[in-house]
Amino acid sequence: MVAHIISVGTELLLGEVVNTNATFIANELKNIGISVYHINTLGDNEQRLLDELYSAYKESDIIITTGGLGPTKDDLTKEVVAKSLGLDMILYEDEVEKLKRYFKDREHELNEGNMTQAYFPNTSEIINNPNGTASGCIINKNNKIIIVLPGPPREIKPMIKQTVIPYLEKLSSRYFAYKTINVIGVGESKMEEMVMPLIDSQSNPTIAPYFKESGLTLRVMASSDDKNKSEKMLTPMIEKVHQMLGENMYAIGDEISIEDCVCRYLIEKNMSISTAESCTGGMLGSRIINVSGASRCYKQGYITYSNDSKLKLLGVKEETLQKYGAVSEQTAIEMAIGCAKNANSDIAISTTGVAGPDGGTDEKPVGLVYVGLYIKGNTYVKKFNIFGTRQRIRRITTSHALDFLRRTINIPVYEF
Ligand code: ATP
Repeated sequence: MVAHIISVGTELLLGEVVNTNATFIANELKNIGISVYHINTLGDNEQRLLDELYSAYKESDIIITTGGLGPTKDDLTKEVVAKSLGLDMILYEDEVEKLKRYFKDREHELNEGNMTQAYFPNTSEIINNPNGTASGCIINKNNKIIIVLPGPPREIKPMIKQTVIPYLEKLSSRYFAYKTINVIGVGESKMEEMVMPLIDSQSNPTIAPYFKESGLTLRVMASSDDKNKSEKMLTPMIEKVHQMLGENMYAIGDEISIEDCVCRYLIEKNMSISTAESCTGGMLGSRIINVSGASRCYKQGYITYSNDSKLKLLGVKEETLQKYGAVSEQTAIEMAIGCAKNANSDIAISTTGVAGPDGGTDEKPVGLVYVGLYIKGNTYVKKFNIFGTRQRIRRITTSHALDFLRRTINIPVYEF
């Protein structure tokens, strides 16, 4: 089945609002094997919306619109959809009751504009909107499925997950299952090269790389006539991917970060961690604290940017700083030792580096970073050369630091 997404809203054309609805819907449809051939954005204009709908009916089986379901005059999507299908708009009594209840609960007056939200094209199935007054609807006519949704992203997300996707899944005799593999420690092209034999020979399950700001992922997707069967088909493929990527594969699940894995492991093992940061200035601790439940493993963080603070707070030796400098293996190690000792934690991570753009030398160029680890009496240190802006160097340092710890203590590949 082929889908066509129509985003309605002049604010989208003015560049004021990013069309996240279309991205979200396209992604959800992909997960159930529906291809999106068109994503078009229109202003609040009746004729252009009509033209777009007619063209969509010719090319696609499923048409999804978002936006233009509000109570004001420029909200015209439902009316135009009805017109395009030759359907009347009729009042849905249950929707009237819902609106009355909604406004009564909030002690607001229900006006005529609000009542338009209880009208839908005849034969519509209503899509409940748990976060707003604009319900959506599904119309099945002439072998076309037209799905009409409101604009606000927080409203459409549950509507799609709870109603639209289950509805569309029922139409198909195939069941899709997918898993996301998270990867770190290799670049985009290297990752692709490592799994190329699988990509080249794929049919079902399929495997596709995605490069996101948050990290590298591989999406493995299988389809069959049975949901359990599809899910089972994923396992051997994921094992093959794991063999090919080795330690670079760190977790299975959507939007999983290294810190999610680190915290999960430390909590499981009842171990504590603390951080001593120079160039990352709190970013590393912040990433760990972003994980819900981090209080069960994270003890303390030091931001020791000056030499003086490294000396005073972490006990780095003056001699070390003088002889090797703040950006050095020796300082990174002493920072980690001092941090673990003062915070009384099992593990400590330290970062020290030249974030730039100034301050680089031939010997210690911008992007040179050392990460130190203290793990129950043992110390480890690793040197990195990171390219990019100050912000990038600091951000990538935190990823390297967490990943260095993950590899050193052999955190398993968790499935979330
Ligand atoms: P409401 O009931 O809130 O009036 P509506 O169905 O009329 O909803 P719009 O008025 O078109 O929806 O959009 C409401 C808000 O939702 C917009 O101001 C915008 O912030 C957001 N929005 C609309 N369309 C999109 C989109 N495609 N992607 C992301 N955000 C959107």
